[in-house]
Amino acid sequence: MDLILAGGHVIDPRSARSGVSDVGFSGNRVAGVAEKLDTSTARKTIDVSGKYVVPGLIDLHTHVYHGGTSLGVDADHLARRAGTTTFVDAGSAGPGNFLGFHDHVIQRSRARILAFLNISFAGIYAHTLRVGECKDLELCDPAVTLDKAREFGDSIIGIKVRVGAYTSAGNGAAPLKLAKQASDALHKPLMSHIDLPPPTIQEVVDTLGPGDILTHCFRPQQNQPFGPAGMIYPEVIGARERGVVFDVGHGLGSLGFETASRMLELGFEPDCISSDVHAESIDGPAYDLLHVMSKFMALGMGLEKVVEKATVAPARAIGHSEIGYLGDGALADATIFHIEEGRFTYVDTIGETISSDSRLVCDGLVIDGTFWDAAET
Ligand SMILES: [Zn+2]
Repeated sequence: MDLILAGGHVIDPRSARSGVSDVGFSGNRVAGVAEKLDTSTARKTIDVSGKYVVPGLIDLHTHVYHGGTSLGVDADHLARRAGTTTFVDAGSAGPGNFLGFHDHVIQRSRARILAFLNISFAGIYAHTLRVGECKDLELCDPAVTLDKAREFGDSIIGIKVRVGAYTSAGNGAAPLKLAKQASDALHKPLMSHIDLPPPTIQEVVDTLGPGDILTHCFRPQQNQPFGPAGMIYPEVIGARERGVVFDVGHGLGSLGFETASRMLELGFEPDCISSDVHAESIDGPAYDLLHVMSKFMALGMGLEKVVEKATVAPARAIGHSEIGYLGDGALADATIFHIEEGRFTYVDTIGETISSDSRLVCDGLVIDGTFWDAAET
């Protein structure tokens, strides 16, 4: 073994494992998980007793085209604080500027980066100015998008579209339909954003098929997943039944505690917990993935559940079988954290607050077999 994390409490939902174990890595693969591994011949052993060891966290919705778009943040810089080993970029780049993202960011990053390709040619190019990239349908070309997604098939795991009053303006759901043409031809998932109507959440989910992803699923106020009487829209229930994936995508404006509490009360959990971390949400209200997981624990979700929704669930959503678990042969990614006790106040995207007596704090990461100490920057 090159590295053994010894004595931590391992939670690996895909293997149904929860208990004290050692985790060993050899090269860039997980090489063993057992109550006791032989540390005498290991090149490096780190005592993680008293801490949790989980599969490297996968943040299904981030913006990490740092320097290439106004909303990009630096994945390597954020990884330790966030506990994230895989950043899935949600459409920062489109077919017109994906090469720059690939060559200058993805290739050079030590943290793992995968990407949804935006249907709009230059991706999310003017977030700071609130100019939506889907306001002009001439920018949304399914054939051009498909070609680029095939060219970068190792990095691109799906297609992204943003529709709503802010992002597609008078075009309503039209860009979503164009993006769906590209993702269907690609046989990879489509991730759709929603903001204020039009289109309505019902129109959006009705366009999504099995494996497609609705992000910002627990929005506050308009385009919540339930109607004025507090009952979940039948279209939303139908979408879940046919396999549409519901993703949190917290961000600057897309998580309401009232919405989330109501949905959890009705037994409708999100499939994936993600941060939508970007330049305007990294210093609050989203902060990072561990912070958003802490919020769901404050809303009543158990630790093992939040871990599942940030490991095996997003891995499945992007069709990646080598990350999000700690079994033999998995890529050598892990997140080490502890639960800090105290009095913490969490804020959603409309200023509502909830309190809790705990939060998750990252102690370190393993990415591709290399240990990253969270105390270093
Ligand atoms: Zn986003």
